[in-house]
Amino acid sequence: MSDKPIILIVDDDPINLQILANTLKDTYQLKVAINGSQAIQLAQKEPLPELILLDIGLPDMDGYEVLEQLKTNTDSKNIPIIFVTGKNQQKDEEKGLKMGAVDYITKPIHPIIVTARVKTQISLKQQKDQLLSLAAHDQLTGLYNRHFLMDCITRKTSFALRQDTDLSLIMLDIDHFKDVNDNYGHPTGDSVLKSIAQLLQSCLRKEDIATRFGGEEFIILMDNCNQNIAQEKAEHLRKTIEQLKPDNIQVSCSFGVTQFNHTNDSIEDLIKRADLALYQAKEAGRNRVVVYS
Ligand SMILES: [Mg+2]
Repeated sequence: MSDKPIILIVDDDPINLQILANTLKDTYQLKVAINGSQAIQLAQKEPLPELILLDIGLPDMDGYEVLEQLKTNTDSKNIPIIFVTGKNQQKDEEKGLKMGAVDYITKPIHPIIVTARVKTQISLKQQKDQLLSLAAHDQLTGLYNRHFLMDCITRKTSFALRQDTDLSLIMLDIDHFKDVNDNYGHPTGDSVLKSIAQLLQSCLRKEDIATRFGGEEFIILMDNCNQNIAQEKAEHLRKTIEQLKPDNIQVSCSFGVTQFNHTNDSIEDLIKRADLALYQAKEAGRNRVVVYS
């Protein structure tokens, strides 16, 4: 796989397509569509393009309509679009920019100008993605943060409802973490947090989401996973953490497990149940897994 940014070129004119492709092919990985429906399909298929060059006059629908459809889809709504078109009236350009295109280039194209404008938009997109990624992650551990979790949980619960699939949530908390900080100092406490985060990350499936929910508290969201499997997973994590001894310190975690209830469940209730189960695990002597019942 190439590391070059992906650009989707949409144009029904083979000559234009050829000129654009020749201009960009050395710096970017190119995908090509020759009509609107093909464009929409390719724009929503992983790996997603970083930029779309979109012609307006297309055989099946016009470029404005393509843009509109792309902007209403979660996968494609954040991909910047540059119109590249023979429509050179000011009102066409106005319309395109008002609808949300980031730029408007008129044909015949000048390769140097296209190259420069494409480069600008690709670099803006990459900066924006980097900021979004920073905003979604916990700085210390590198796990996702609470803000991201709340977004993610909303998407995953509605997916679970739509597709009638299971979704489980594990909440875990490091036992007596205050003692670690008090006895060994905060830098060591931070190092312990990082080690636990790393362990969580390495034990999880690709589709699981591990987040630092608060100080020494973590939440794991597991798709297609009922509470029995989640319980097994939590038990495995518990044992692994018990043997980890980060910074030569014996640490353990307590776990609360619950499952998304398809009838009448809210995100708040889901988290609250995991929290209650976790509380019970603490009350029962820590270093254990409790499933909410
Ligand atoms: Mg055309």
